Amino acid sequence: MNNLVSAKGSCLCGAVTLTTKTMEQQFAACHCGMCRRWGGGPFLAVSCGASVQIEGEDSVTVFNSSEWAERGFCNKCGTHLFYRLKGSQEYQIPLGIFGNSVTPEFGLQVFIDKKPINYTFADKTKTMTEAQIYELYAPKS
Ligand SMILES: [Zn+2]
Ligand SMILES: [Zn+2]
Repeated sequence: MNNLVSAKGSCLCGAVTLTTKTMEQQFAACHCGMCRRWGGGPFLAVSCGASVQIEGEDSVTVFNSSEWAERGFCNKCGTHLFYRLKGSQEYQIPLGIFGNSVTPEFGLQVFIDKKPINYTFADKTKTMTEAQIYELYAPKS
């Protein structure tokens, strides 16, 4: 993707700082059960590629959440810091980490078929179901 954005953010307590120069201009919401359990609601995150600098690494705990990805959080204040693909080392970073310093557009909702019926975003975005995501990303055998 072109037109990448530079951004810097930190956790609530300030022990961990994340810096990137490769943030996309759109963010996505994930409605999957794992994201909702992790964060208490849909996961709003922006792709930052594989180039993310982390300061305060000793305050980061990484949870091995699936075969293909892991989730990092600050072990001092509990702030969720990233979802990282194990293979490509690409980061999805929660939008709130960056405060109001960046304003990517709401472009996509994934695992839309896993969204519970008791909330719906009003913004019109592209959507993808679980089957569409697996079709796109699962290795072809
Ligand atoms: Zn913290
Ligand atoms: Zn998810």
